[in-house]
Amino acid sequence: MSINIENIRALFPVLHQEVNGKPLVYLDNAATTQKPISVIEALTEYYYKDNSNIHRGAHTLADRATGYFENTRALVRDFIHAKEAAEVIFTKGTTESINLVASTFGRKFIEKGDEIIISTLEHHANIVPWQMLCDEKGALLKIIPIKDNGEILMEEYEKLLSNKTKLVSIVHASNTLGTINPVKEIIAKAHAVGAKVLLDGAQSTSHLEIDVQDLDCDFLAFSAHKLYGPTGLGILYGKRELLESMPPYQGGGEMIKEVSFEKTIYNVLPFKFEAGTPNIADVIAFQKALEFISGLGKKNILAHETRLLEYATEKLAEIKGFVPVGTAKEKVSVISFNIKDMHPFDVGMMLDANGIAVRTGTHCTQPLIKRLGIEGTVRASFAVYNTESEIDKLVESVAKIAKIKNK
Ligand code: PMP
Repeated sequence: MSINIENIRALFPVLHQEVNGKPLVYLDNAATTQKPISVIEALTEYYYKDNSNIHRGAHTLADRATGYFENTRALVRDFIHAKEAAEVIFTKGTTESINLVASTFGRKFIEKGDEIIISTLEHHANIVPWQMLCDEKGALLKIIPIKDNGEILMEEYEKLLSNKTKLVSIVHASNTLGTINPVKEIIAKAHAVGAKVLLDGAQSTSHLEIDVQDLDCDFLAFSAHKLYGPTGLGILYGKRELLESMPPYQGGGEMIKEVSFEKTIYNVLPFKFEAGTPNIADVIAFQKALEFISGLGKKNILAHETRLLEYATEKLAEIKGFVPVGTAKEKVSVISFNIKDMHPFDVGMMLDANGIAVRTGTHCTQPLIKRLGIEGTVRASFAVYNTESEIDKLVESVAKIAKIKNK
C-alpha cells in the first residue's frame, strides 16, 4: 500500500496556515509532531462526555473512562510488542521514564564502584539522571565515543563493558543526527556481562518498528507527543520481573493495595508506578494517535520518510556552503547541517521568515555538539505528512541563504 499524503495532511489542521505570509512548512518533527483531528477531538470529547477519575469504579462514567484508559495501555503493548499490558507504565514523558528507572532501579541495584554506560549521542534526559545517580551512589558513568560521522564506536563500547557494568542506557535514534544505533547488538553484548539495558526510544518509536521482545531490551522510554499524540504523556516499558524487583517511584493513591500507619502494601503492576490521578485525557486521546499510525502502517510511514530523507540529502548536498552534520549509514529522517560562515540561529531565523519551521542550536545534546567541535546545527526533521514539494521549498530557501556568504 502506498499512502496518500494529501489525505493525510487534511487530517492535520495546524498544517494549513500561513506563517510570516508563507504557507507553513513544518520540519521540526523531532521536537514534536503535529496532532491529527482524531486526537484533538478525543481530548475534548473526553471532557465533554466522560470526565471522571479512573480505577475507582464507583459509577458509570468512571467505568467508561477506565475502560478507555486501559484500552490505550493495551494498544501500547501491541505497538511495542510487549508480553503484557502490565509492563506498560504511563509517565509524563521520556524524561520522566528515564528518571523513574534512575531513581528506582538505581536506588535498589546501583552501588559504589558500579558502572553505567551511555553514549556521546545522548539527549540530556539520558545523561543528567545518571550523573545524579552516580553522584549519589559513588558509581561511574562511562561514555561510548563516536566517529566523526555520528556512529558509535562498537569496539570502544566492547572495551567499556565489564562485570562492573550494571546498566547500559542508550538512545535508539539520535534526535540531533538521526543516527540509528545497532541496539540489538548493543543489548546482547550488555546482557553477556550481566548488565541491563534501557533504550531511549523518543526518536525511534515514530519511525521504526519496535519489538521489545525481539530486541530483548529491559526498559524502553518514549513520549506520546513525538508520535502524533498529546504532550505530557510518556511510556516506560519494563520487563515484569525487573519492575517487580524495583521499589516504587512515588508514593500516594493508586500505587497501594493497602495502607495502615504501620505498613503499606504496594499495588500490582503497572499501578505500583502510577501514583496519583494520572493524565487520563491524554492517555485516552493517545489511542487515536496509535490508531492513526497503525492505520497507515509503520512500514509505509518509514518508506515515505526515507524517500524524503534521501531526496533532501541529495538536493541539499548540491548547495555551495552546505555542511552536513552526521552522515551515519543508518538514519531516521533527520538532517542536521550548517552553512559555512553562518550561525545556525541566523539560518533558522531566515528559514522561519519563509514559513519553514526547523530547530536550531544544540538540541539538548551539548556534549555531542562539543565533540563535533561546532556551535550547533540547523535541524530539519520529517514526518509522514511532509511532502517532496516542502523539501523543494527548504532546499530553495537554504540555497538563497547560503549564497549570502558562499558566492
Ligand atoms: N531523548 C531523546 C532522544 C529526545 O529526542 C527527547 C526529546 N527531544 C527526549 C529524550 C526527551 O523527551 P521528553 O522531552 O518528551 O521527555
